[in-house]
Amino acid sequence: MSELRRARAVGVRGVVFTGGEATLHPDLPAAIRAARKLGFASIQLQTNGRGLAYRELCRELLRCGITEFSPSIHGSRPAIHDALTQTPGSWSQVVAGIRNLKALGAYVLTNTVITTKNFRDLPALARLLVRLGADQFQFAFVHIVGTARANRDWLVPRASEVMPYVRKGLDIGQAHGLLARTEAIPYCLMRGYEHCIAEGGIPDTRVVDSVRVDDFGRWRRFEGKAKGPDCGRCRWDRVCEGPWKEYPELRGWGEFKIVPAG
Ligand code: SF4
Repeated sequence: MSELRRARAVGVRGVVFTGGEATLHPDLPAAIRAARKLGFASIQLQTNGRGLAYRELCRELLRCGITEFSPSIHGSRPAIHDALTQTPGSWSQVVAGIRNLKALGAYVLTNTVITTKNFRDLPALARLLVRLGADQFQFAFVHIVGTARANRDWLVPRASEVMPYVRKGLDIGQAHGLLARTEAIPYCLMRGYEHCIAEGGIPDTRVVDSVRVDDFGRWRRFEGKAKGPDCGRCRWDRVCEGPWKEYPELRGWGEFKIVPAG
């Protein structure tokens, strides 16, 4: 609570509850209520989405003050999502959760991690999200850390290979009025879709957790992401953050071709 008070005191207007599985934390409702009382305009919950299958929990979180729900969904079908989460039944729970939230009038923005196991499914997933009435979705290229690092040889797709499916998914979302975004895909792979790159719109962020990062944007740009040897000659060099640094360590820089100025 003291972190929330400190943030408001310096004019911060948005807070995201995330990490572990926030819906399982016994203090979550109290923390959300505190955030609302302090006057945060945006209070987002990032979750694996399973708990949202219980409509009463959705109601309680809305009553407490959540303004945006961000469940993770990694496929249009149980076979894809449940294999990635290694939790049978989790897809059905997330989908039920999104239905619950939309029935209650909540704002829903989903997050999908792009891997070898789901990239061809992204257009079908976009169609599902349209049908479910989601407001926004984000396709995030897998960050090769933790479990993803341990499984990188079979889990990490080629960035260039996923792009036709990413573009198709974005097209479907945008055609139906959803905000469609990508994360950790540099501009050179996003030609014609530059407006969908999420990083440009992420506000300055402070991470307060077991790991603390006072300026997450700076950490992302200067420690988390990397630029290649030719990036200095690219027209996007000033705004592009590059891929997560672990990607070129695994696959090299060959797929990232500079975009000439002009
Ligand atoms: S700066 Fe580098 S990574 Fe970014 S768009 Fe240009 S070539 Fe791609």
